[in-house]
Amino acid sequence: ALADVAAPVAVALAAAGGPALPRTPGLPDAGFAHDGQITKAPVRALTLAALAPRAGELLWDLGGGSGSVSVEWCLAGGRAVSVEARPDRAANIRENARRFGLTDRLTVIEGRSAEVIPTLPPPDAIFVGGGFDAALFARLPQAARLVVNAVTLETEALVLDLHARHGGNLLRIELARAAPLGRMHGWDTARPVVQWSRTP
Ligand code: SAH
Repeated sequence: ALADVAAPVAVALAAAGGPALPRTPGLPDAGFAHDGQITKAPVRALTLAALAPRAGELLWDLGGGSGSVSVEWCLAGGRAVSVEARPDRAANIRENARRFGLTDRLTVIEGRSAEVIPTLPPPDAIFVGGGFDAALFARLPQAARLVVNAVTLETEALVLDLHARHGGNLLRIELARAAPLGRMHGWDTARPVVQWSRTP
């Protein structure tokens, strides 16, 4: 079934003269409709590793952005609900579900996470890519695996505190990519991401 989903996309890319689509997470950012707010491919690969998808499992992707994490979760055989507050980004998620042939397993809900989650079926895993706060954490089902990516100091402070009280793993992801610097090259350093993950 996985091949049924990925193969048409791979064929389309190959026909366009581009590379075939790999099955491992960390697909190129350029393959997704996005406005710059997207979990970049290498960080996304680490995020999927922490989420540890298994076939048939349900993901809540809270603060979906482009939906890239949901897409890669679904390509691994899962189902996802992506919750996104901004209508323009919810439209990108819908477009990405279509593009990757996942409209039957990726549901997009436009709204704020705290208001939407009481209406959702229980998840196996939860990813929070934006809009994480103490009130949201208090409303999350404790039986699910949880991964939170913190980019701001405020969210980082919160996940450090939650880690102290609830345990789990903290991973600080600091990546730099070589980019032209005059006639030479230098490291373009991305903002660090602090990833808190917790298994029940
Ligand atoms: N993982 C995403 C990027 C997330 S960016 C990707 O790979 O594309 C964080 C997103 O969270 C933004 O799109 C922002 O609009 C959304 N967001 C922030 N607070 C939110 C809230 N309370 N409810 C729903 N979405 C929220």
